[in-house]
Amino acid sequence: MALIVHKYGGTSMGSTERIKNVAKRVAKWHDAGHQVVVVPSAMSGETNRLIGLAREIMEQPDPRELDMIASTGEQVSVALLSMALHGIGKEAVSYAGWQVPIITDSAFTKARIRSIDDAKVRKDLDSGRIVIITGFQGVDGEGNIATLGRGGSDTSAVAIAAALKAAECLIYTDVDGVYTTDPRVVSEARRLKTVTFEEMLEMASLGSKVLQIRSVEFAGNYRMPTRVLSSLTDPLMPLEEEANSGTLISFEEDTHMEQATITGIAFNRDEAKITVMAVPDRPGIAYQILGPVADANIEVDMIIQNQSVDGKTDFTFTVPRGEYVKAMEVLNESVKAHIGSGNIVGDAKVSKVSVVGVGMRSHVGVASQMFRTLSEEGINIQMISTSEIKISVLIDEKYMELAVRALHKAFGLEKA
Ligand code: ASP
Ligand code: MG
Repeated sequence: MALIVHKYGGTSMGSTERIKNVAKRVAKWHDAGHQVVVVPSAMSGETNRLIGLAREIMEQPDPRELDMIASTGEQVSVALLSMALHGIGKEAVSYAGWQVPIITDSAFTKARIRSIDDAKVRKDLDSGRIVIITGFQGVDGEGNIATLGRGGSDTSAVAIAAALKAAECLIYTDVDGVYTTDPRVVSEARRLKTVTFEEMLEMASLGSKVLQIRSVEFAGNYRMPTRVLSSLTDPLMPLEEEANSGTLISFEEDTHMEQATITGIAFNRDEAKITVMAVPDRPGIAYQILGPVADANIEVDMIIQNQSVDGKTDFTFTVPRGEYVKAMEVLNESVKAHIGSGNIVGDAKVSKVSVVGVGMRSHVGVASQMFRTLSEEGINIQMISTSEIKISVLIDEKYMELAVRALHKAFGLEKA
């Protein structure tokens, strides 16, 4: 017998019919003797609908009130799931975040979990109940409901699993695991049986949308074994088989020793590149350029500063494409006013492609293999950045899919 946390995404909770299937699956785990805590998302589309209502009232609603409304979708889900369990003869109880309580800070719409009180939940579990807790939300020190940001139910589930010291956190979703790359781009993409936590963290931050990045951070900090698996299978499939399906985020790097150098290829289509030309090469310049960008809450990713010629250098960096116009506006004001550089030029049609793998630590030649592959396809690399376990390149958006396919093949990722 083990304590297991299940998380179900919006698609899995998408209709009362699907909720009944979730109940069957949960009951199966409980019948096998496990203690089960379930953390569902709102029914698919519901959070968008609620936020849409708020925006019909006003363009920029107060964040506290926005959380008040956005959090209600999950409250509907937990009650329906609890009823569905009652309907098949199971004892279950549902809680909103504040009832547990899950304590957060007061950063409405992007709150962070501070602590989770496990006393009530444990008591219920010990008396044989299935406990269902709203994802995505908690309560701050003053009793205000706060949400964890879009996709936050993943983080709720892993945090609850960590607080309860669960044996495993199972994230049931509409894909059947984590793939070597997006199967919509490369049809030969293969599901990974395991991926290390660090690789998953890179992939989540590089644009793979399978898990909210903070849930991966939680899994890493608390070493919580977390599995991504499909909720679209037969809910009554054999438990053994289900328990080994999907992709396990692991902490055992040794199990990867025999694996290929590269685990996956991540990409982000929607990047933009900005170059401030001919800036004076003196202390403080990087800060003067990027400070106002950060103050405008724009995330900067890759950065390059060239060797200076005659005391001048070009300074290039990337931002999310959606922030490009705002970043240009900010720079046109601040740089022109304070730095006296040359032109500011940009390109909002660039994409980032990254190869990721802990195997890079013990293998040489990954970068040269990557660059050779791109060169054979005639793809120009505009920027490069690296970490211990990833290499990213910025390229023209036109060539993104070609690059991903060529790299997938070059690193033999289609082979198990
Ligand atoms: N319902 C929330 C959202 O749509 C949280 C979640 O689904 O994880 O973002
Ligand atoms: Mg999600």
